[in-house]
Amino acid sequence: MREFEEANAEFRDRLPPALGALLVPEAKECYRWRVQLDCGCINEVLTLGEECLPSDRQWRGPECEWLQKGQMLCVHDDAPPAPYRDIVEWGERRKRTFPADPAEPRDGIDPETWALIRHDEPHTSAFWKVKLACGHITDVIAPDLEWKPEEGPHRCSAKRVAEMTKEFEEFWASNPTGHAPREHDHMRRMLSQGWPSPEPECLCYTCCYVHWIVADQRVGWLIPREAEPERRQPQKPPTRAGLERRLRQAEAEAARLRDQLVDLDRGTHADG
Ligand SMILES: [Zn+2]
Ligand SMILES: [Zn+2]
Repeated sequence: MREFEEANAEFRDRLPPALGALLVPEAKECYRWRVQLDCGCINEVLTLGEECLPSDRQWRGPECEWLQKGQMLCVHDDAPPAPYRDIVEWGERRKRTFPADPAEPRDGIDPETWALIRHDEPHTSAFWKVKLACGHITDVIAPDLEWKPEEGPHRCSAKRVAEMTKEFEEFWASNPTGHAPREHDHMRRMLSQGWPSPEPECLCYTCCYVHWIVADQRVGWLIPREAEPERRQPQKPPTRAGLERRLRQAEAEAARLRDQLVDLDRGTHADG
């Protein structure tokens, strides 16, 4: 508790006074809750004040983006494989420089492949922050440093796409389980679009870790209040909007379980 207050006080001091009071809550304004998620986990969270239920507000994702109301992140090792999502918005670009790769092959890659993909000099790549159709944010690598979203993706020639399609069809015919269903479907979509670069869709790892809050339980003020008169109001009856939201959450969970069942039936070698 003391550490919480010291860290907050230090952060507040570094901000302009008006902002500090707004952005960094005082410990005495923080209310503790236990929330149960649809994965079964129970976490403790803090809200500003005691009025707003944790399931009735928005929490942040890994890139500080807002998740849907009532969702939180909870990471599980056995989470379902990440789904592909369409890119709906291109954000800012960031350049990153990497040192030359070592001569020794990395991560058990065979020497021949390594010789082809190895960078023998330092190189710089451009990464773009993108927003996906699910609302989550991730990074996408651009085909070159100067590429801009207005240009649209680079595409292969029709001749090259036809060759690649033939090669993939042959590979799939002789290795029916060579690619997980998700990758197989993704490659088919990319071939049908001329093998675009950057791809118009990418894997969303946040989607695998997002869970719905299914129950909120009050714990109390972070700093217990002194002899407050009994003023807890009787439980309000559920509102229509609240019931509708819970129904949507239950339906989303059912859809997710159905997808997992389909994935299970289609093969269990998905590579997450
Ligand atoms: Zn969990
Ligand atoms: Zn997502």
